[in-house]
Amino acid sequence: MNQHQIRAAIYTRISEDDGTALGVQRQEEDARNEAANRGWEVARVYVDNDVSATRTRMRPQFHRMITDVRAGLVDAVLIWDTDRLTRTPREAEDLIDLADTHGLQIISLGGYRDLSTPNGRRDFRNDVTNARYETEKMARRLRRRLQQKAEAGEPQGRPGYGFTRVPVLDDAGRPTRLRRDEADPEQAAVIREVANRLLAGHSLRSVVSDLNLRGIPAPEAEKWNSTMLRQVMKRPSLAGLRVYKGKVIGRTTGDAILDESMHDRLIALLTDPSRRTNRAGNDYKYLLSGLARCGREGCGGAVRAGVGRLVSRPDGTAHRQPPSYVCTECFKVRRKVADVDSVVNDQIITLLRTPEVIGMFEHGDADAAARAQADIAALDAKLELIADQWAEDVITAAQFTRLNTRLRDKRVAAEQERRAALPNAALTVLSTGDVAASWDDAPIEVRRAIVSELVEVTILPTGPRGRRPFDKASVSVVPRTIVAL
Ligand SMILES: [Zn+2]
Repeated sequence: MNQHQIRAAIYTRISEDDGTALGVQRQEEDARNEAANRGWEVARVYVDNDVSATRTRMRPQFHRMITDVRAGLVDAVLIWDTDRLTRTPREAEDLIDLADTHGLQIISLGGYRDLSTPNGRRDFRNDVTNARYETEKMARRLRRRLQQKAEAGEPQGRPGYGFTRVPVLDDAGRPTRLRRDEADPEQAAVIREVANRLLAGHSLRSVVSDLNLRGIPAPEAEKWNSTMLRQVMKRPSLAGLRVYKGKVIGRTTGDAILDESMHDRLIALLTDPSRRTNRAGNDYKYLLSGLARCGREGCGGAVRAGVGRLVSRPDGTAHRQPPSYVCTECFKVRRKVADVDSVVNDQIITLLRTPEVIGMFEHGDADAAARAQADIAALDAKLELIADQWAEDVITAAQFTRLNTRLRDKRVAAEQERRAALPNAALTVLSTGDVAASWDDAPIEVRRAIVSELVEVTILPTGPRGRRPFDKASVSVVPRTIVAL
């Protein structure tokens, strides 16, 4: 040893995953004592807390220390045990190289490792190999345990909004070590209400602002927002489904808040961007604007609603006439909005109470949906296969990318087919319970979408102008052929 004072670095690390209770404080204390015994100066202490030694990128202080070694600021490293320093053989070899080129001494308090000798290097490598082995064994055990839990339908992670985690009781009513997610009555009611409203065509934004207005507490945040609500409503656990590695693998031991078909429709609604904006348009204030046609012979123009005209009274005051629908082609057919709407409303409510209509929209096209679902499953299997083949070098990265793109495109198409075959969400909700009340409550976009799907409305001319009572027969409401009645 030369006259040069040895400048030692102390490296300490603690991570949650290895279950070591030994704090960084204690590691540092022991290392300082060792430095004092050897007459070394402690130049610097590097501390990485709560990060695993296998994820190298997450250890900023470790890398800082290596940089300092390379810069010649550190001659020795003191560690409590080799597994504090590294658990990957690749990194171990880098450290051995570093010891070789910079004369770095690495002292592990768990046993002296002199990296300048073959014996020391062998022991150091063995330390790392053993640590690696322990990590892998632990990871395997953990994965196995997680998989087992998932297969048993047990919850993992924190219970989501709508649920409370409770112990599963045995036959005698005593709590066991198993847990299940029980529906929280208040939160589950919020989820059911939101599901119904979204399926009835309310926008996420309108539901969010209503929840906030009513002061309904948001999960782990001050207020609800659209992203949060979408995430909450998409969770498979709402339908009692257990997901493992991104796939539904069975049922949970917990409660289901929504039934599966309802949740399916909700997923379709929340993941399909084309459904977020309404086909009938959002700017309409009136039920039949642009939907009803003029019935005047040879016209057939589109009918739009306009605010009523201002009419002056003999006493000089003015009043506005009620809004009316007017033909935008001939301007000769005009009828009060309230009168026409009431005829159409009655007809729609009658249709929605008709079993054939309800059946048609409740079931969608089950065969087509099942076919599309089978296609999706087959494509998923192929996607997994090519990923395996790529991982095992059976196919090249370029081949993988090409196949992957092709399969994903097909999957998107199959998913669209499946959604198209699903029941019409808005109609399903409207055709259950009190139809008339649901119809009145439905947002205008939903009512317009249903009108355009179910009926053709024509406003017929009514003889010479003049005051006469409204004639219901002057509004023709004909069910579309799709409604085979
Ligand atoms: Zn016309």
